[in-house]
Amino acid sequence: MVVVMSPDATDEDVAHVVEKVESVGGEAFVSKGVVRTIIGLVGDLESFHGLNLRTLRGVADVHRISDPYKLVSRQHHAERSTVWVGAEGSRRVPIGPDTFTFMAGPCAVETPEQTLEAARMAQSAGATILRGGAYKPRTSPYAFQGLGVRGLEILADVSAATGMPVVTEVVDARDVPVVAEHADMLQIGTRNMANFGLLQAAGDAGKPVLLKRGMTATIEEWLMAAEYIAQRGNLDVVLCERGIRTFEPSTRNTLDISAVPVVQATSHLPIIVDPSHAAGRKDLVVPLSRAAIAVGADGIIVDVHPDPESALCDGPQALLGTELRELAQACRRLPAMVGRVGSHERVGQG
Ligand code: PEP
Ligand code: MN
Repeated sequence: MVVVMSPDATDEDVAHVVEKVESVGGEAFVSKGVVRTIIGLVGDLESFHGLNLRTLRGVADVHRISDPYKLVSRQHHAERSTVWVGAEGSRRVPIGPDTFTFMAGPCAVETPEQTLEAARMAQSAGATILRGGAYKPRTSPYAFQGLGVRGLEILADVSAATGMPVVTEVVDARDVPVVAEHADMLQIGTRNMANFGLLQAAGDAGKPVLLKRGMTATIEEWLMAAEYIAQRGNLDVVLCERGIRTFEPSTRNTLDISAVPVVQATSHLPIIVDPSHAAGRKDLVVPLSRAAIAVGADGIIVDVHPDPESALCDGPQALLGTELRELAQACRRLPAMVGRVGSHERVGQG
């Protein structure tokens, strides 16, 4: 941390800052310039926060040098992490730097038949993790809210039938135990990224967490949200860029593709892309998936539906037929071009 003194700060002001820093066990290195004095602080960042340095007389500014997140930062854990999804003893799927993980499934679980059919479509396209919402965070309280526990049971049955581990969203901290009981990975959606109680509950659940970026969150805020989960002793967190809200109305959200390399440079956590919720349009899902693979994402998560016309949620972005075949091809061919092993080659391994 660096404290910048104002040009009119006195020697007493500087001495007072040094005294405060030393009072919490820190060290202060004073550097006097022609106009200004700056003070470099070494020690525990949290204890410096408690000093309210900005309120001291003569202090013009305080700058942080290290990341505000610790557990998820590469400053403290240089190597990029791999998160394994799926129960011990059954098929486990890695998400991380050496592989490319293709995850797909319906936006919402509607019926056992629809879920199984979507899972089979996803699997035959090369997906190795099944997605599907049992609890849907809808903008309107009148829209389909998901099947709840019944949806979780359907997902667990389809997971057993296909051998695909399941990721599903949890929207309320009270539901974390039941979701963790049925699913292999807990999803925190964009609307709940900063629901800190939910993040902590998910961190306590003993299952990997897929943390989507808040639609108006900066990358730093998103990583701080991940830190909430990590702080509970759960480092099995995968980040998901799903588009942010901008002034552009042609897509539902604007996919921030640069978030992928930015996150990979600052955090060791894996990062995947959700082109379906970013675009909200099925014609953009394949091009955005190709972009995600090319930029070095650790995976994608895509909506598929056996009958998008009858989908109870997000039908316009669900893939079927030609687009799904194109996506399958992209996921087979492109990861190898950027030095990754595609999901489909991993089936039966791990
Ligand atoms: C979803 O994945 O079903 C979902 C609601 O996504 P998001 O939170 O990104 O909108
Ligand atoms: Mn959706």
